[in-house]
Amino acid sequence: MDYEAVIGLEVHVQIKTRSKMFTAAPAGFGEAPNTLVDPVVLGLPGVLPVMNHAAIEQIIRTGLMFGCSIAPVCKWDRKNYFYPDSPKNYQISQYDQPICVGGTVEIELPGPSRNVMGEHKHIHLTRIHLEEDVGKLTHFENDSLVDFNRAGTPLMEIVTEPDLRTPEEVFAFLTALRQAMVCAGISDCDMEKGQLRCDANISVRPRGETKLGTKIELKNLNSISGVRNGVTFEIERQIGIVAAGGSLTQETRRWDLEANISTPMRTKEMAHDYRYFPDPDLMPVEVDEAWKDRLRATLPELPFDRQRRLMESFGLPYTITSVVVPDRPLGEFFDAAAAAAPKQAQKIGNWIVNDLLRELSAAGRPITDSPVRPEAIVGLVGLVEEGAINSNVAKEVFVEMFRTGEAPGAIVDRKGLRQSLDTGELEAWCREAIEKNPKSVEDFRAGKENALNFLKGQVMRMSKGKANPKAVDDLLRALMAG
Ligand code: ADP
Ligand code: MG
Repeated sequence: MDYEAVIGLEVHVQIKTRSKMFTAAPAGFGEAPNTLVDPVVLGLPGVLPVMNHAAIEQIIRTGLMFGCSIAPVCKWDRKNYFYPDSPKNYQISQYDQPICVGGTVEIELPGPSRNVMGEHKHIHLTRIHLEEDVGKLTHFENDSLVDFNRAGTPLMEIVTEPDLRTPEEVFAFLTALRQAMVCAGISDCDMEKGQLRCDANISVRPRGETKLGTKIELKNLNSISGVRNGVTFEIERQIGIVAAGGSLTQETRRWDLEANISTPMRTKEMAHDYRYFPDPDLMPVEVDEAWKDRLRATLPELPFDRQRRLMESFGLPYTITSVVVPDRPLGEFFDAAAAAAPKQAQKIGNWIVNDLLRELSAAGRPITDSPVRPEAIVGLVGLVEEGAINSNVAKEVFVEMFRTGEAPGAIVDRKGLRQSLDTGELEAWCREAIEKNPKSVEDFRAGKENALNFLKGQVMRMSKGKANPKAVDDLLRALMAG
């Protein structure tokens, strides 16, 4: 029997804001424990929460970006529980009225090779709601430490429909989600900093079956490799049980990063009763059309949309767009250059993807700090195009552009690199090379192509690299044929 997995995700994404969700205490990562706190974060008696306007705007932007419907009223509920990660014994969240409902996230599956675009799919979202993050517990053998720095950070919970089928699709979903969020400036989605965390609901069923199987929620998938390995492991574990005639009970399991296995955490019988009720300290927020329109206007072009546009309007190959697009500043760099010379877009793309990225990575600099600006790349491509320099010289000029930040034309003039277009001079060099190397001429005439390369090399040397290789090739052949 052939089985398939069915997966739905619950993804938590921290919104990038200066302050916390319900108080002015700063949000941040990596500070000394319990320094990013105030009486509201600590839930001291008598404090009152105040909403973070920027966080609400960011979740509405998220919803608009993924085509969700935005609830006309954003209301808050208390999720009650007793656990040391929350000092006030409840978490402010949204229960029955999430601010975003429906919508989809477009994903790209791996193609047949890295250079070929894979299939695109739309994964349906159930809802996105806003809540406050909780504190972080670190457990030791006998003691646990509590750090409330994370507590109160604005946190989105994004819930998908059970649309995903494989660990690759889960990975593609998280990648697309992260790229869109980073692109729109909503979150940095750094998994290592806990800014994106993912729980996976997994079930299996015989292929062809339409009913859903018993779901198991897998927690603690806190790295990209954790997601891949955890989901893969859990699918195989479940198929193993079901294929052997066993049955599964609905439960929550924990991914053990070190042992590479999932272990039981709690079953449905132990599930919490959170006793949700509307938070009496917070007023509902009305979201009108004008506010949504204002926020919609702030959204960037999404990565896949930009990719389609670049492929359609410039005929760019996937090998270039798939590198340029996921990084918004890089995409904008390309767009600025291509707008100045649309016909040369592909060559511009090659310079950016091959040469500029290589130099930037060697120098450890981001694209936003590139000493070579878009107009300089356009200038360089122009110099090659008009025949002022050949492509070998252009490579040299590029390295110098990167080193000094100078314009390509200035470098070419300063170093006297303009290609020799004087055919008389070129012919003299070619004749000299032929005269001085009778053995190579003989070899070439006997059919050895390699001999031509040797002669070309001689001419290029005499021209100090300024001769056009194609012209040298043509001329040498003509002279030796004659
Ligand atoms: P719960 O009531 O336990 O919170 P929900 O129905 O709200 O469960 O679903 C939570 C998540 O689990 C969603 O992402 C949903 O897509 C996913 N899910 C629900 N049922 C299944 C199933 N049988 N197999 C895999 N995923 C599922
Ligand atoms: Mg649920």
